[in-house]
Amino acid sequence: MSSIDDVADQERDDAERSELHEECNDDPVDGRDRDAELDDPRAGHRGIPVDAVCTGCKRIKVKRAPDPDIDVDDRDLEPADLTSFKHVCHPCGTATWWNPISVLSGLIDAERRDQE
Ligand SMILES: [Zn+2]
Repeated sequence: MSSIDDVADQERDDAERSELHEECNDDPVDGRDRDAELDDPRAGHRGIPVDAVCTGCKRIKVKRAPDPDIDVDDRDLEPADLTSFKHVCHPCGTATWWNPISVLSGLIDAERRDQE
């Protein structure tokens, strides 16, 4: 009986250690700085901060998607509420279509705080 408990304790210890390891990891999950990407003029000047994928090179960048003008708070928008939009992609060297894949509600909150 006690040996089974020991095994369970050991597994729990391993789980805790791996969580701690992730928290101590200085590198962001995907190595991207979305704040900096949004500050870049290439993200656009008006609209909803989103992660969008270029249909040409499949790169994902922070862009400003056109506001869909529906009766929903910006930060509650879903990618499905947004339409694809045309925007310059520098690696592609031309204006391409971008598909919003996630709404960056954290950046929307940060901008609102800046404006207050
Ligand atoms: Zn591209």
